[in-house]
Amino acid sequence: MKRSSFWKIACMIALLPFLYLGTASATYFYQYHKLGDERGLPMPPPFPALHKGQRILIFAPHCDDETLGCAGLMQQAVQLGIPVSVVIITNGDGFRVGVEREFRKLHVNRKDFIRFAAIRQHESLTALESLGVKPQNILFLGYPDQGLWAIWNNHWSNSNPFTSPYTKSDRCPYPVAFEDNVPYSGASVLSEIKSVLKDKRPTDVFVTHPSDDHPDHAAAAAFVTLAMQQLARNSSYFKKTCLYYYLIHRGDWPLPQGLRPNHYLVPPVEMDNLDTHWYTLPLTHREIIVKRRAIADYRSQTTVMARFLYSFDRRNELFGTITPKTAFQCTDNSMLRAVSNQAWLDIKPVALDPVNDTLIRDFQPGGDLKSVYAATDRKNLYLRVDTAATISKRIRFHIFIRYFGSASRQTSGGTLNLFINPPHDCRPAVDTCDTNKNRLEVTIPLSRLGYAREIALSVDTSTAGIHIDTIGVRFIYLHRSSHHLASQIAQLH
Ligand SMILES: [Zn+2]
Repeated sequence: MKRSSFWKIACMIALLPFLYLGTASATYFYQYHKLGDERGLPMPPPFPALHKGQRILIFAPHCDDETLGCAGLMQQAVQLGIPVSVVIITNGDGFRVGVEREFRKLHVNRKDFIRFAAIRQHESLTALESLGVKPQNILFLGYPDQGLWAIWNNHWSNSNPFTSPYTKSDRCPYPVAFEDNVPYSGASVLSEIKSVLKDKRPTDVFVTHPSDDHPDHAAAAAFVTLAMQQLARNSSYFKKTCLYYYLIHRGDWPLPQGLRPNHYLVPPVEMDNLDTHWYTLPLTHREIIVKRRAIADYRSQTTVMARFLYSFDRRNELFGTITPKTAFQCTDNSMLRAVSNQAWLDIKPVALDPVNDTLIRDFQPGGDLKSVYAATDRKNLYLRVDTAATISKRIRFHIFIRYFGSASRQTSGGTLNLFINPPHDCRPAVDTCDTNKNRLEVTIPLSRLGYAREIALSVDTSTAGIHIDTIGVRFIYLHRSSHHLASQIAQLH
């Protein structure tokens, strides 16, 4: 070894403790600051009392989410004789660290990921049995771990399925599955979720929150919300079914609240007073102990990230509702065209997102998404996206719209993908695209959205290819003029 190389390596080794201590201190101060804020947060109102006659259906993106978010709820329901069913959408078959640890090898292959899925399914059956859920009420759909968001966005058709980079499969390879060999497509996910909903006829449905940081969790919310809305169109029964969201991943929540069983779980401080109305469900001492044991049944997970899993070992669980939004109806079609037009001040947001809740969002506040506003007139959809600080040219926006209800695409919806480089570059081009300080405004002709009745909208930001923030899918009704409605009815006949 050269002498200069030796000194370089020696200096790097000498600096390592300082690097470690520096990072640890920064993390500590960051978390302490947040913890201080959370002390002052009020507890949300109590969850509506459970009663006989209810039927509960819980959707979990991965094996363990249902236990982390809803173990207490399931126990209380079972105690009252309320039927509880659980649908696990993926088998968590893309968790490389877990697979490597499970099989004690560094080079894992597709068969290892598939074997790992079987282990996770078994863990779910054990954990849920201890919570009182019958095995016949536990359904595994077998979709690919870390693939649901891509399926929602880019792989809707059965002829264009998603291929898992882990199992290398583009269809469900599992013998234990709701439907064997089903293609990894959005059409399949939606169809299976609707089948389960029609079969179980739940009064109350639970799924992960659309603002959950894990893309599979955000996509699960989108699919379940869409399925329920489509069923509600033709069924008075599903119009009355309640939909609740539970949160698992958001920034470093709930870890800053520490490993403090006996303490209450509160929503992330940054999500207070946003578009979710939270409820708290208190757990008895016995329910807390049973939940802790059920978490321990997920041994493949606790060996890798016990601290995170047990941070849900609390005295309560949290469930939230989000009221469906309608775009503001403009009477004057020129009122929103000018950037920073005062007309926006009269409009309420259709989506609100936490800010300053991760280090990357703190460092890139121009990409830290804060809110979305929507308005329509006879010709256009006007969107305004606000961020936490001035938008720089380094920030990239992606607006994804799935639209529904037009004459030709009732169920699957068409899509519009906008990639925006501030201040004005939008691909594909739309009517107008502009940024001003911390606002992005775009005008999209309704003809580009098939004169849809409803859109599912998500926004995400990145810089130099690094993801900053996402506003998970929100469903927005678009009021349409009688002219368009009439022409669409004419097409249908
Ligand atoms: Zn999960």
